[in-house]
Amino acid sequence: MIHLKENTNVIDLRYGQNACEGLGKEIGDFCVMTMDIPWQVSKDKLEGTPLEVVFIETMEEKWLDEMCDKLPMCDTVVGIGGGMAIDAAKYVSWKKGWRLVSIPTILSVDAFTTPAAGIRRNHEVAYVGHASPNPLVIDFGIIRTAPPELNIAGVGDLLSMHTASFDWTYANLKGKSEFPYYKNSIEKANRILQMLYGLLGDIRENTDKGLMAIVEGYIDLNTICLPAGHFRIEEGSEHYLFYELEERLKRPFVHGYIVGLGIYVMSQLQGNSFQFIKNVMDEVKLPYHPKILDIGKQDLLNSILNVRSYVESRPKLWYTVINDSHITKEWAEEAIKDLNF
Ligand SMILES: [Zn+2]
Repeated sequence: MIHLKENTNVIDLRYGQNACEGLGKEIGDFCVMTMDIPWQVSKDKLEGTPLEVVFIETMEEKWLDEMCDKLPMCDTVVGIGGGMAIDAAKYVSWKKGWRLVSIPTILSVDAFTTPAAGIRRNHEVAYVGHASPNPLVIDFGIIRTAPPELNIAGVGDLLSMHTASFDWTYANLKGKSEFPYYKNSIEKANRILQMLYGLLGDIRENTDKGLMAIVEGYIDLNTICLPAGHFRIEEGSEHYLFYELEERLKRPFVHGYIVGLGIYVMSQLQGNSFQFIKNVMDEVKLPYHPKILDIGKQDLLNSILNVRSYVESRPKLWYTVINDSHITKEWAEEAIKDLNF
């Protein structure tokens, strides 16, 4: 059950096997932010004639601003694609005050439900603006053209509530929570997790129900994060290990996969139902093994051994179990012994 009346950032939602069919004829003058493959799989279904189709090359602010200046006058901007195309459309919608229609063609990241656009300012990530999809269009037929494991990756930032909410509770018990702590938020997060646990087979198989579970998870997550003004409920030690790895190896990862690896390691450090959450990730077939992420054993060991000093040198990072950890080489080796490299 999706509760759009709460603070979800989704004004309207359409979903179905062909949810975007004919939409282009309903929305007045519109332009499209997209990329090559997403446009190929959706343009015939969408119908109507966009005044402009922009293929997103980069998320650098300067490029986006110049692109915005050249757009013809429209009523609506339609984002079709993954995170970049959707974020570019959010940026245009915010800059121009145009209606936003978001048509994600893959569910690997949650850009389609969040209000701010993730852009690059001098190569650094920055979150700017505010835009709400009206409607958000979940077209199962289009989403199923994406590799299924990349849609499954979408659960990474939801399953992270298992470890992140533990970290928040832990920080609160230690008197170190950076924000007011609400038990209600933890319970809500738990309800989202329970909903996902009940649909792992559907998510794995990318059925209609499974795809909607991911979308619903993100919409419900917004009802926790948006009123609170932070996302501590889904970001904690599991993300911090990934930040360390990203800085160490200097390359991007599929977000949901590496968050899964973080959950694998940090649920052990937390003593937080490791076997259970590992079984969940295995059953849903979330790829989290270092082999798939192309992370070597020594790099992962070094990262785990360094993660405490990494977070301590970054005061902006929230308080988690990492802050009080004493990770030894023996512990780290034991923790990763069953992973595939
Ligand atoms: Zn994340």
